[in-house]
Amino acid sequence: MKFGTKVIHSGLKTDVATGAIITPIYQTSTYVQKKPGENLGYEYSRTANPTRTALEQSIASIENGKFAICYSSGMGAADAIIKLLKPGNTIVSNKDIYGGTYRMFEQVFTNFGLKFKYTDLKNPKNLLDEINSETKLIWLETPSNPLLEIINIKAIKKLIDKRKDIIIVVDNTFASPALQNPLNLGADIVLHSATKYLGGHSDLVMGALITNNKTLYNKLFLITKSCGAVPGPMDCFLALRGIKTLDVRMQKHCKNAHKINQFLSNCSKIGNIYWPGRRNHPNHLVAKKQMKDFGGMMSFTLKNNSFNNAVKIIKNTKLFKLAESLGGVESLISHPASMTHASIPKKEREKNNLSESLIRISIGIEDHEDLIKDLSQAINKIN
Ligand SMILES: *Cc1c(COP(=O)(O)O)cnc(C)c1O
Repeated sequence: MKFGTKVIHSGLKTDVATGAIITPIYQTSTYVQKKPGENLGYEYSRTANPTRTALEQSIASIENGKFAICYSSGMGAADAIIKLLKPGNTIVSNKDIYGGTYRMFEQVFTNFGLKFKYTDLKNPKNLLDEINSETKLIWLETPSNPLLEIINIKAIKKLIDKRKDIIIVVDNTFASPALQNPLNLGADIVLHSATKYLGGHSDLVMGALITNNKTLYNKLFLITKSCGAVPGPMDCFLALRGIKTLDVRMQKHCKNAHKINQFLSNCSKIGNIYWPGRRNHPNHLVAKKQMKDFGGMMSFTLKNNSFNNAVKIIKNTKLFKLAESLGGVESLISHPASMTHASIPKKEREKNNLSESLIRISIGIEDHEDLIKDLSQAINKIN
C-alpha cells in the first residue's frame, strides 16, 4: 500500500459496538474482567488502551515497521531507549542533535554510569574512531536540529554490520515517515517526537518508537509498562487524526520550503542557508537518495552575524510566530542560541557552527507568497 493510503487506513478498525468509522477516545483507566485473568485484551491503560493501540498500528505501518510504542513525549520515548543499556555502556551520537536530547544524556544519564561521545558523522567513517567494545548504541538525528545536517544511515549500518550488539537509533522527527523510513536503511529503532509532524497541529505532546525487532520491542514494552511514560487516549486520538493528513501536509511544507529557499538565496543580507535541498549542502546527494523530498525545516544566518539583527527579524515577523517546536501547519521562527540550544554551552555552540545569528524556521502550510512577504518585510527592517 502506498504512503498516501496508509496514513488514512492503517490502524483504522470499524468499532464493533457501534460501527463508528473512527476509533473512539477510550477515556478509561481500567477494563472489567470476566474472571481473574480473563479479559478482552485490555486490563489497565498504562499497559494498553484501544485508542493508543490504533495509533501504534498506524505509526508502525507508515514507518514500514512491525511494532510501535507511543509515549507521553518524544523525550519519554528517548528515555525508554536509553534504559535498554547498562552502566559502563557507551553511546556514540552525532554532534548536531536536539538540545533536549543532549541535556538528557549529559545531565541525567551520565549519573547512571553511561558514557556519551559526540562526533561529526557527516562523514560516516568518523564513527570508527569512537567505537569500542562498550559501544552499544549509535544515536543519529538526520536531518539534524538545527543545522539540517544529513547522515548517511546506510553507510553507518554498513560500517558496523558485524557488531550485532550495537543498536542504531534514528530520530526521524524532522523528516517524518512521509520523507524517510530509517528502518529500510538499516536502523533498529526509529524515534519520533510525534509532537511535531505526526501530530502536525501544535496541539499535543507525544513520542513514538518503531522497530522490526521483536526482542527489542519486548524489552521496550516492558520498560514502558514498568516506567509508565504513556500518552492519554485524547492525545492518541488527536495524533491519529493528524496522521491522516501527513502526506498532503508534508507535500505543502516541502513546496513552501523550495520557494523560501529561492527567496532567501536572493536576499543580500542572508549569510548561510542550511537546508538539504540546496545543491551546495554538504550531503545534498545523500539526502536526495535517502529522502523523498527535503522537508520544511530550514535555518539561516545573517551576513554580519549580528545577534541583535537576528532578534529584530524574529520580533518583526507576523505570520512566523516566535515559538519553540516545529512541524505544525503554522509557520514558526526561533533563535536556537537563546532558545532550544541554550543548554549547550556557548563555546560548544560556536565550535559546532551554531552561530549567534542563526535563525531556524519551521515552514508551515500557509500560502508561500504570504510567508515570503512576511520574511521580506522583517529582513528589510535590519541594516
Ligand atoms: C522535539 C524533539 C524531540 C523531543 O520531543 P518532545 O515531544 O518535545 O519530548 C526530540 N527530537 C527532536 C528532533 C525534536 O525536534
